[in-house]
Amino acid sequence: MRKTLTALAVTFACGLASAAYPEKPITIVVPFAAGGPTDKVARDLAEVLRKGLNNQTIVIENVGGAGGTLGAGRVAKAAPDGYTLLLHHIGMATAPALYRTLPFKVMEDFEFLGMINDVPMTLIGRPTLPANNYAELVKWLNDNKGKVNLANAGLGAASHLCGLLFQQKTGIDMTTVPYKGTAPAMTDLLGGQVDIMCDQTTNTTSQIEAGKVKAFAVTTMQPLKTPALAKLPTLDSQGLKGFDVAIWHGLYAPKGTPKAVVDQVNAALRNALKDPEFVKRQEALGAVVVTDNRVSPAEHRKFVEAEIAKWGPAIKAAGQYAD
Ligand code: ASP
Repeated sequence: MRKTLTALAVTFACGLASAAYPEKPITIVVPFAAGGPTDKVARDLAEVLRKGLNNQTIVIENVGGAGGTLGAGRVAKAAPDGYTLLLHHIGMATAPALYRTLPFKVMEDFEFLGMINDVPMTLIGRPTLPANNYAELVKWLNDNKGKVNLANAGLGAASHLCGLLFQQKTGIDMTTVPYKGTAPAMTDLLGGQVDIMCDQTTNTTSQIEAGKVKAFAVTTMQPLKTPALAKLPTLDSQGLKGFDVAIWHGLYAPKGTPKAVVDQVNAALRNALKDPEFVKRQEALGAVVVTDNRVSPAEHRKFVEAEIAKWGPAIKAAGQYAD
């Protein structure tokens, strides 16, 4: 009897603990500027994620700079209580090869909460660029060697990785102009202060659809299904054989966050990714929500580990480092 009562008390206490979380607003750190591609994913996700988290408010905090490493570093050092989370992309896997010193260890300092989506990228140019297709762009880039500005969101951003591979494969060097995110970079591209950029479809689709930027290619091996982007040819089909860059987003918590909280956020994420409105919105922006098996923390961890192994050598070969 006594044993049963103790067991009941423990069950009750555990039940209470998990039912209580979250009892105050949760912050999701986005390591790039507001209004950009990762920020848009985070804000759309937060709307549905909160339904599985006692309808708590989710505050998005933009901590841009150093290609996403400042924001990731902030979360690595935050209290592991489930109230500070990180939504980050492929930069989580490329940073270890790009930075000699990082303020965090990707595989050691985080709990993996699940993956979110895969996002292709597009190669776009300022509206006044005198090139209307990829072949004309390559000619213009060659004619203007030494004068071309390529915008990105800093060393470690997806726009950096994509731009790096583009320069490597075309053999054309450009001057890179780093921003705290591709939202401010887009503002400058629209204003003609920078020439070209490789950016996620979650940021470029509406600009392409409105004819406000020049669109030259998608960075995946297959053309995209999203109506606004379906006519854009791949880089692979236009001469850059094997060019294949799609990025992905995942959700993280500081290492040591209680398992009950990790499980609860993971369950909320699983449900959020099944929300028809969220899925539709992602598709309209060219992104693809991951299948349920990839939302598991174990799969997420395994995937990031594999991505570190995949991109590390390519980045090291390109010889790009920051201290
Ligand atoms: N995801 C970044 C942003 O939201 C851009 C990038 O990674 O290139 O601004």
